[in-house]
Amino acid sequence: MTGGSRLFGCIEAGGTKFFVGIVDRDRVVLDRARFATTTPEEILGTVEHWLVEAQQKFGALSALGIASFGPVELNRDAETWGFITDTPKPGWRGTNFGQRFQTKFGLPVGFDTDVNGAALAEARWGAGRDQTVSAYITIGTGIGGGVIVNGAPHHGLSHPEMGHFRPPRHVLDQDFSGTCPFHRDCYEGLASGPAIEARWGVSLSELPSDHAAHEIIAWYLGHLTVALQGILEPGRIIMGGGVMETPDLLNRVHRAATLLGGGYFRGKPDEIIVASELGDRMGLLAGLALAMDASGET
Ligand code: ZN
Repeated sequence: MTGGSRLFGCIEAGGTKFFVGIVDRDRVVLDRARFATTTPEEILGTVEHWLVEAQQKFGALSALGIASFGPVELNRDAETWGFITDTPKPGWRGTNFGQRFQTKFGLPVGFDTDVNGAALAEARWGAGRDQTVSAYITIGTGIGGGVIVNGAPHHGLSHPEMGHFRPPRHVLDQDFSGTCPFHRDCYEGLASGPAIEARWGVSLSELPSDHAAHEIIAWYLGHLTVALQGILEPGRIIMGGGVMETPDLLNRVHRAATLLGGGYFRGKPDEIIVASELGDRMGLLAGLALAMDASGET
């Protein structure tokens, strides 16, 4: 038993893997598990079962936090709050996720996108702490981002879609049509992992360091960070995701953003554009931040 410390069930739902864990308010992970993402019915049933057994083992949970791949419905007044909405992932469109867990467990459920959850966790415990406004961007199989303003994720009509508007084309990248099924050459269609592989056949980190791809991708990401500076002037722009693990990419983004921003913004790119600090703890801590907020305990 845990001596009365409050426990939270934390879920990170990804397109290929689900992580679930029991975490206390001091971020100590008591138990965790990983499952391959299969059908909604199968994986959600598996996670429910794991949480039921965990409650028997560790005691009652205070709340659940779910950081999910999207798009998702975040409007608490909507009939479909907590559903996965228009995902292209086969079988998942219209999946009841957050409401299902709320009904099953009778607990407060914090439900948001994986990137908003990550942004919240970084703002609370990682690279965005002590900032009034911080942004988190992930560059991986897609490009997505979240913004935390005064401790809460920004929601408009829905969650932001920071990867889905168009940068100007790099002079050496005029012919590639882009991979986004909605916009072709938006940021995600030009600079995500699949867009990189579609052009050059391998990941960015597998290309030699003098390959033009490095400067092209950094230039797009520099544009994206400068756009965020112009709109938000965030105190930190935190960059995560598999593509950002490419050696030297963050430095290249600093140089691109410095050039493209023209020295105009308050935030200096090499100070405010930073790597994620939470690393592989991100997923469960995203769930923890959402769960603690849902329970009223921050
Ligand atoms: Zn797009």
